[in-house]
Amino acid sequence: MQHFPIFLDLADRKVVIAGSGAFALAKLRLLLKTEARLHLFAEAPEADLEATATAHGVTLNRRAPGAADLTGAALAYGAHGEAEADARFARLARAAGVLVNVVDNLEGSDFITPAIVDRAPVTIAIGTEGAAPVLARALKTDLEERLPQGLGPLARAGKLFRARAEALPQGRARRDFWADYYFRTGPEVLAEAGEELLDHALEALLREHLNAEPEPGRVDLVGAGPGDPELMTLKARRLLDAADVVIHDRLVPAAILELARREAEFIAVGKEGFGPSTPQEQINDLMIRHAAAGLRVVRLKGGDASVFGRLDEETEALTGAGIDWSVTPGITAASAAAAAIGASLTRRGRNGELRLLTAQDVQGYADHDWRALARPGAVAAIYMGKRAARFVQGRLIMHGADAETPVTLVENVSRPDQRIVTARLGDLPATLAEAAFAGPVITLFGLAPAKAAAVLPALLEEFA
Ligand code: SAH
Repeated sequence: MQHFPIFLDLADRKVVIAGSGAFALAKLRLLLKTEARLHLFAEAPEADLEATATAHGVTLNRRAPGAADLTGAALAYGAHGEAEADARFARLARAAGVLVNVVDNLEGSDFITPAIVDRAPVTIAIGTEGAAPVLARALKTDLEERLPQGLGPLARAGKLFRARAEALPQGRARRDFWADYYFRTGPEVLAEAGEELLDHALEALLREHLNAEPEPGRVDLVGAGPGDPELMTLKARRLLDAADVVIHDRLVPAAILELARREAEFIAVGKEGFGPSTPQEQINDLMIRHAAAGLRVVRLKGGDASVFGRLDEETEALTGAGIDWSVTPGITAASAAAAAIGASLTRRGRNGELRLLTAQDVQGYADHDWRALARPGAVAAIYMGKRAARFVQGRLIMHGADAETPVTLVENVSRPDQRIVTARLGDLPATLAEAAFAGPVITLFGLAPAKAAAVLPALLEEFA
């Protein structure tokens, strides 16, 4: 991030705009939304500019600005639209220690003006660091359509009520009060009774919240999916958004943790690769301790919490401690990997049965019904299979599996660094060794990518 966004208090501050034409007019219009004291310098003002300045009581100085004109200014806008004049102005501003923006000149500017969605006091600033103004405008249009016009009045009334809401204890009680106001009571009152009654409604709501019993803490065990934040459920996102504490596996990527409140406490547990892992009792203890203190805990697990996730051990501990809990499903690595290779996990006439198996268990390599898996058409998703490849291959071939059976390995499913590697059962260990995977890998036994198969004939046709 080269440009750091902030919201600057311009009330009663001096802002200097220099220029005579359309550029200066655009800046003037924008700054008229603020409470700044505007100083306009235009040697030969165009009619529109002059009319707008006059209509809003902005003094128009019909000359080029001098050094003294910039003293004490908060911001300066070089809006001549002419390189030399703007450069001269920028030098003056910098000499006076004033941050300057030069229209249409990213390099010559100390700051840039974002695209703004104005629902004052709610203001959204969109910036692309000059990279894609078209994108910024598209985002602005999208947000303009999406945000209710009522947001302004709601926030204005809310702002006036902030001091009184401090009667509620800081933290969740106060957050719940505001969430109730902004998303439920406020919009209702605004629609039915109008802005004048918002203060009344806030007062009644505050009394209601002051008298309410505090909600007890709880734990929501949530599947985060395979890594792409877009593959999370809406419910997972909502729970994450309300969490006071997030206890997450190390598999959960930063892009997903970013979705939680910034004030939430984050605790990483579990293990990474074959590294040391947090003992299960310690994880249970962390969940119980935080929930018992009245906090809302999200226990965030990679994929689906119920697939090789030690879910029951955690829910049993919570039940034992008398703590309320729920489970929210997520997309497991097998589903995401099948999607990545465009193949179906089950298929009429091929396999009416799908196995999710782990190649490792607490004792070491896990044993399975190899005979059933060795049958033609069998499909299995093998979790934690990197190390056990040779063992799995040996067992399957011993039970009569065809060495030509397709096997697809997908590393970092759904993440930007996803990798798909195809193999045959016969060369599985060699392929694995060559691929040298560093991230988590799911093995789809009995499946080949449908996409590659479809692409090849199409290509051949094209070149025929
Ligand atoms: N609860 C998880 C599985 C946890 S076990 C789920 O439902 O997906 C950990 C194993 O899951 C890893 O060793 C790997 O085999 C698989 N896995 C999890 N996330 C993955 C990802 N993004 N890409 C590939 N494999 C993944």
